[in-house]
Amino acid sequence: MKRGTKTVTRTAALMLSAALLATSATGYGQSAPAEPVQAVKPRAGADAGPDRGPNEGFGPYNKWVVRAVTLIDGSGAPPRGPVDIVIEGDTIADILPAGTPGLPLKDGREPRDFDYELDATGMFMLPGFVDMHVHGSTDDKAPDLSYSYKLWLAHGVTTVRGVDLAPFEVSLSEQARSERNEIVAPRIFVYQRPGQGEGWTGGRTNTPEKARAWVRWAAGEGIDGIKLSNNEDQPPEVIEAIIDEAEKQGLGTVAHLSQIGVGRLNALEAGRMGLDSVTHYYGHFESLLKNGPVQDWPVDYNYNDEQDRFGNVANLAAESFEADSEEWWDYLEEQKENNVTFDPTMTIYLAGRDLMRARNADWHDTYTMPQLWQFYQSSRINHGSYFYDWTTATEVKWKNFYQKFMHLINDYKKIGGRVTTGSDSGFIFQPYGFGYIQELELLQEAGFNPSQVIQAATLNGALTLYEPKGQPVPPIGTVRVGKLADMVIVKENPLQNLKTLYGTGFLRLNEETQELERVGGVSYTIKDGILYDSKQLLADVAAMVRAEKVRMGLPEEGVVRR
Ligand SMILES: [Zn+2]
Repeated sequence: MKRGTKTVTRTAALMLSAALLATSATGYGQSAPAEPVQAVKPRAGADAGPDRGPNEGFGPYNKWVVRAVTLIDGSGAPPRGPVDIVIEGDTIADILPAGTPGLPLKDGREPRDFDYELDATGMFMLPGFVDMHVHGSTDDKAPDLSYSYKLWLAHGVTTVRGVDLAPFEVSLSEQARSERNEIVAPRIFVYQRPGQGEGWTGGRTNTPEKARAWVRWAAGEGIDGIKLSNNEDQPPEVIEAIIDEAEKQGLGTVAHLSQIGVGRLNALEAGRMGLDSVTHYYGHFESLLKNGPVQDWPVDYNYNDEQDRFGNVANLAAESFEADSEEWWDYLEEQKENNVTFDPTMTIYLAGRDLMRARNADWHDTYTMPQLWQFYQSSRINHGSYFYDWTTATEVKWKNFYQKFMHLINDYKKIGGRVTTGSDSGFIFQPYGFGYIQELELLQEAGFNPSQVIQAATLNGALTLYEPKGQPVPPIGTVRVGKLADMVIVKENPLQNLKTLYGTGFLRLNEETQELERVGGVSYTIKDGILYDSKQLLADVAAMVRAEKVRMGLPEEGVVRR
């Protein structure tokens, strides 16, 4: 649906027939020439987030101070504290000792000339998290983008790489509004797809020349990078031209090497061309196929049937060289040589290995928007809703595939390859924010120690975002003097239990009362020196969800499960 041309309510839109939706949705890049008819409807538009209200966020201040935290700085250094963190404007101005562990805090500590003081004694501070693979909430999933923004911030995500966040112009204007802190939103990096943009008049970008022209045009418009997908308009020569031109323009590149093109260009070949990051699993195992570059598709496979597309991915585990084989290590070593970042987004396919768990997760009842819930339900037209007949055997295949996928990601980390954290939430029963924390847990399951998980979630993302801009020292990603003040403050030690970062917290038995208690959740999120009460952000989201349920005539509590 085009923004501004909505003539039906969203409720009514949900009830339209599948056929109508499939033909009326105009999706992204509306000005682009006709795309081939697709089985799955293209992504809908996105409505800008509302202006930041007077009671949303405290600051920025000339000078304020967070007292007596234990600092996990994101660099991989061990926690240290207690320390006081001084923030001036949007910048970390000082990190001062507040005492010695085991002894009372020092009295009368500097600074005394602050505008605001937050007593965070006993709490933990981390750098703001970086979600390297996001799409904002589209208008068929939530009323506007603030739904995804607030869920990200509430989970400590202060920077997102939109791949793409929204249609071209919306992404750029939301980025600028976030930069000015006019909206309650994380820092936004704008990665768009070739050919997008209402101002682009050069037509289909399916030749190296036209693709280069689009890259130059889009760079001029101010995007940060390009999302590649290996589709029929992106054969290897076009991708090579895009990567080359992107490097010249200071743009980053990330590829979802879809099955459509991966037989001709796998992750290793793309890495040799200079691709910056590989997102999802696509392309890795195709670089390791024992029987040559084309996967052994079942003879009745149909890519446009999403259960085929996702159900058969797991076959790659059996068709690729074993973990620890010579080919395995050669692959990883060469990708490290190529400076390729792995952004595995394991969370988004998690339902594949345990559908019931994903459907029944703690957060759906209160935080899943009814339209989003509807979008998740098995459907031939909603992307990622491919559970038409999802069997034990399919889940077992995915479980096995995940073991190998995690092994690969962990081995890459072991040799010094860079791994980042992305979520791709908004599909497949994964809501924004919650899905991101799940990705952190999955990295730990893969073999990362908790400090490595945090480093992947902070510094590694920052490096990957700023390197293409010629800034090898990113202004975010660690808590250090001189960096931008993007931080997360939590009561529980996240290194001890990543689950405590979920907005819904973690259930623990209180030994004194013998009652179950929900503990955890992020307490505060700081972006550009502005302090947000993370619990309030969650409450805002809960209220949005409730209001939509009322508007749509649905029960206020829970979701409608079949
Ligand atoms: Zn995605």
